[in-house]
Amino acid sequence: MIHPWNEASWQSVLAGVDKLPHALLISGPEGVGKLALARHLARRILCETAEGREDACGRCEGCHWYDTGAHPDFRLIQPEALDAAAAGEAEGPEESERPAGAKKAKPSSEIRIEQIRNLADFLNIGSHRARRRIAIVHPAESLNANAANSLLKSLEEPPAGALFVLVCHQPARLLPTVRSRCVSLEVPAPDPALAAKWLAEQGLARPEALLRFNSGAPLRAAESSGMPVAESVAAFLKTWQDRPLAALGLLKDKEELALLVEGLQKYAYDQAFRGAGMPARFLSYRGDARPDAGSALRWARIARELGRIRRRLDHPLNQSLQLHRIMQLFHNE
Ligand SMILES: [Zn+2]
Repeated sequence: MIHPWNEASWQSVLAGVDKLPHALLISGPEGVGKLALARHLARRILCETAEGREDACGRCEGCHWYDTGAHPDFRLIQPEALDAAAAGEAEGPEESERPAGAKKAKPSSEIRIEQIRNLADFLNIGSHRARRRIAIVHPAESLNANAANSLLKSLEEPPAGALFVLVCHQPARLLPTVRSRCVSLEVPAPDPALAAKWLAEQGLARPEALLRFNSGAPLRAAESSGMPVAESVAAFLKTWQDRPLAALGLLKDKEELALLVEGLQKYAYDQAFRGAGMPARFLSYRGDARPDAGSALRWARIARELGRIRRRLDHPLNQSLQLHRIMQLFHNE
């Protein structure tokens, strides 16, 4: 499926679909549907009756294989952690179900060299269905150093008929040598009106506020429908000022904690912007007094510190320490 705001990007890929080079780099902000675009392209190329048409037919054998996730000429390479999340197994078996002494290995958040080596084997066999063989690498910045170097070798001497589609949120984090071997397609930030309309069609309330809170990325907004937007962050902060421990008791699990810290960080950035005389970016503050100009730098520091805390939240032992740190930050304000 092509998201409505990506129609122009799709048309530009489609215009050259029969002369695509061996590597395409699709980059743009996170949460705007780049992977969906890459998958749509793969399905279109693997469709066996698509010549001269915009979309895959959905009826041929190629489409059938692709739609059942078993096309022999297609691979999606992503970090184990994303595969696990997609399969709904991120938590793994309960403690009691594991053999005694077995430690639960945390799914990797990197793309590892074995994955790229297996990919090279797959691409070197040749096509099963006499069309191209396609590998989507998502997100490309999660390739670790060894994997990136291994991929670079394949990009330098691509197997005949191979097409690499690298999906990337932060192309600056890719090896320049990898970047330079790809034809680049930059997916722009979505048109806000189209994105809000789409969110409303997905049944989400207050799509504009959700979109704003998620920096304009509609897919992030759609996933985070429980996110504390404007009022709930404000309500939390009010409880926090009166009874911080009661406010923390409102959090059910670490996902809620993560959302809260994200909300607080965006609140702090907004205060910094507003203190400096600029408009708020994430939340709306109708009727709230502007912070004074002297506090803008202090709020910016708080926002950066909250960013550091967000990156460490994954570690369960750290959570109470981090909460303590957050309370200090806001109490000194
Ligand atoms: Zn088809």
